[in-house]
Amino acid sequence: MSHEVLVLNSDYEPLNVCNLRRAVVLLYLGKADVLHTHDDEAEAHLLTGEGDALPSAPSVLRLRYHVKRPLPDLKLSRRSIFARDNNTCQYCGVQTRDLTIDHIVPKRAGGGMQWDNLVACCRRCNMRKGDKMLHNSGMKLSRPPKRPRYVPYISLTKYINGTKNEVWRDYLPVFHDVGGADNYAATA
Ligand SMILES: [Zn+2]
Repeated sequence: MSHEVLVLNSDYEPLNVCNLRRAVVLLYLGKADVLHTHDDEAEAHLLTGEGDALPSAPSVLRLRYHVKRPLPDLKLSRRSIFARDNNTCQYCGVQTRDLTIDHIVPKRAGGGMQWDNLVACCRRCNMRKGDKMLHNSGMKLSRPPKRPRYVPYISLTKYINGTKNEVWRDYLPVFHDVGGADNYAATA
């Protein structure tokens, strides 16, 4: 069971994912209300060890006040590329944790570190493509890579993992440029 808690702004914008301890502090200070709990009653009984079970652990909180934040930057990183591509090799479609980053136009040929030149790639495909240009490699991309248009307040990785949680999903805007949105479509 996950003890991660989704924190929403007062206008329901997802702000953060925090741990249970931080969530309890927010509640204790009266700064937030519980919208959803983990409905794992067994766990709640386990915690108290007696009949009068504590309410189960919060899963989604909403702040009582509005946090004003500028729109965050979307940082280009290995992790955010893997998240955008849903940990899936963009050549052969294998989903694995053992991924590397492929420069579609190789560095040697002037290919840069941009959202549209970097894709998640398994080691096998990376070996196969090597330093070749895409049109000389005999390989095909499963979709053209783009900079995600939707920039969540929470990190792209947390956003995409969050879309796998049925309760959280209702609060996470659907966005089709990132891997999580594909999961959403597949399971909705
Ligand atoms: Zn591959």
